[in-house]
Amino acid sequence: MALIVQKYGGTSVGDLDRIRNVAGRIAKTYDQGNQVVVILSAMSGVTDTLIKTAEKITEFPDKREMDVLMATGEQTTVALMAITLKSMGYEAQSLLGYQVGILTDSQSCSARILDIGADRLKALLADNSIVIVAGFQGCDAKGDITTLGRGGSDTSAVAVAAAINADACEIYTDVDGVYTADPNICKRAKKLDRICYDEMLEMASLGAKVLQIRSVEFAMKYNVPVHVRSSFNEEEGTMVVNEDANMEKVVVSSVTHNKNEARITLLKVPDEPGIASRILSPISDAGIIVDIIIQNTRSGNMTDLTFTVSKTDYKAAMKISEQTAKEIRAEQVVGDENIAKISVIGVGMRSHSGVAAKMFATLAKENINILLISTSEIRISCIIEEKYTELAVRALHTAFELDKTE
Ligand code: ASP
Ligand code: MG
Repeated sequence: MALIVQKYGGTSVGDLDRIRNVAGRIAKTYDQGNQVVVILSAMSGVTDTLIKTAEKITEFPDKREMDVLMATGEQTTVALMAITLKSMGYEAQSLLGYQVGILTDSQSCSARILDIGADRLKALLADNSIVIVAGFQGCDAKGDITTLGRGGSDTSAVAVAAAINADACEIYTDVDGVYTADPNICKRAKKLDRICYDEMLEMASLGAKVLQIRSVEFAMKYNVPVHVRSSFNEEEGTMVVNEDANMEKVVVSSVTHNKNEARITLLKVPDEPGIASRILSPISDAGIIVDIIIQNTRSGNMTDLTFTVSKTDYKAAMKISEQTAKEIRAEQVVGDENIAKISVIGVGMRSHSGVAAKMFATLAKENINILLISTSEIRISCIIEEKYTELAVRALHTAFELDKTE
């Protein structure tokens, strides 16, 4: 007998047929003699619709009330799932975040989990019940409902698994695992059997939507092995686990791309102390997250400063930069939305050299110009023109020997 946590995402519970299909899977796991805790997302599209509805009332709806509103999506699916399982003759009960004892801080719409009580959950399991928990939500010390940020039910699942010391944490989604590249643009991409937390963290921060980044941080901190797999078939997915010696042998384990960035350059900025802060502080004060920053050297006492932001923040960041440019007497601000970030990731980079050189040479061979470069210990990213995205991903996938061999 094992204690299994299963999380099903929005597409897996998108309508009643799919809820029935998932109920069948849960029942099967239970019938095999396991204890089962299920974490659910809202039906796909529901959270978006709730947000849009509130935004019809006012541009910036009150965040506390947005938590109350958004939490209803998950409240609906857990109730429907418990009703379905009960109608099939199973002992099942739904629990909302506060009923489980998921205590968070009070940061509305992006709360962090502080503690999970789980007494009630454990008592229900001891009574042989299947427990269906609403993902994405918790409650703060005052008793107010909070939510954990978009995609937060992954984090609910990993946190609950850690709290009850589950034997497995299975994340069921609409893809069947983590791939060496996006299979939609790289036909030779293959599913990874295993990937380590550090690599998964890089992938999540580069925009891979498979797991919420906080859930990976949680899994790493509490050493929860996470199994990412599809709810539409029976195949094994990808295990996200601690790094082992074999993983270092693979230099690059995946190639990712992100078309959601834009570039802003301030030209001929006076090169003096405090200038980067002068340019970037107003951007961060506006709540805009900057990704890559590069300062060039020019001859004389002028410099150029370039940075990237997400496409959704581009217009606001341009406006702020134009204002700053006037104040500091920079010559000009230029922006570019047609860029993409291509990255290669692998823990093997820690012990192998020449990865960057190989990446640059591969792009050069395809005549792709590199606009910006940034690196971490286990990742190298290049910004290129967006139209070359597919070509770059495929060329790098081949160059780093990731192609499927069939
Ligand atoms: N329903 C929430 C969202 O759409 C949480 C989740 O699905 O993980 O972001
Ligand atoms: Mg998700």
